[in-house]
Amino acid sequence: MFASVIRYGYVPFMLIGINGAAAFLAARNSSELWLVGLIVVAVGCSFAAERIVPYRREWNDGLDDAGRDTAHAFVNESFILVSVAAIPLLAAVTPLHHLWPGTLPFVAQLLIAVLVADFGITTIHLASHKIGWLWRLHAVHHSVRRFYGLNGLMKHPLHQAVEMLGGVLPLIVMGVPVQVASALAVCVAVQLLLQHANVDYRVGPLRSVLALNEGHRFHHLKWAGVGDVNFGLFTLLWDHLYRTYSFDPQRRFTTDDLGMAAKPHYPTGYFSQLAEPFTASGACHFDPAAAADATHGQAG
Ligand SMILES: [Zn+2]
Repeated sequence: MFASVIRYGYVPFMLIGINGAAAFLAARNSSELWLVGLIVVAVGCSFAAERIVPYRREWNDGLDDAGRDTAHAFVNESFILVSVAAIPLLAAVTPLHHLWPGTLPFVAQLLIAVLVADFGITTIHLASHKIGWLWRLHAVHHSVRRFYGLNGLMKHPLHQAVEMLGGVLPLIVMGVPVQVASALAVCVAVQLLLQHANVDYRVGPLRSVLALNEGHRFHHLKWAGVGDVNFGLFTLLWDHLYRTYSFDPQRRFTTDDLGMAAKPHYPTGYFSQLAEPFTASGACHFDPAAAADATHGQAG
């Protein structure tokens, strides 16, 4: 019974409960500390739900990656908080800041910010799978060997900066208020936790519209080209448009499906992962044997 409540209630709790709390507090100009607090609560809820209804129980066991993933999460979230704090300075110098629909209710402004950021971040993400130097930076995120909540915050800080630029720059140019950007930062963190959560939650037909873990697992299939699907951060609308949407309700995922077939020995330490994009081995490799393996994997 309790497991069923988590299975069906986890996504509404995170999307409406945590994001709603973020909107409520941001609209009242609360201190930025609440933002940190909400993200910590969201991470705690993700860990708890993963233990109550895990998708794969073994993905809850660390692979000597807990310290590294905590470092990625801490550094990346700190960068986001500092960037949000700089928004009022940037907004003041953009000539188009009057474009922002500031008279709309706060929740409507937040939804607009989410949709604009979704387009920018999803498009940069797609480009990161096609353009060599972006893939070098993005590969850090695809090196995961177990699929769990903190994976979402595990990315190269430079890649996060590029993604954020694509998602948030249009908002800054339009004059997004810092309160809306603060709430958006919580929504992004919650979304990344949901997308990668090792939680066997269900959202019914919404799985083909919302960018959640059922679809995002296909994005982490390890074979070159096969994982070039479901790039969306908040929604899969852009994947439907770009024709990169993929879903098979029968498909189950194991540890052997994850990672990068062309880079089986990707560094696992925090600092070696930061350095890897700038080394020769950080380049994109195409391994014909891995491609043949992919055909086999798809059939199975
Ligand atoms: Zn990706």
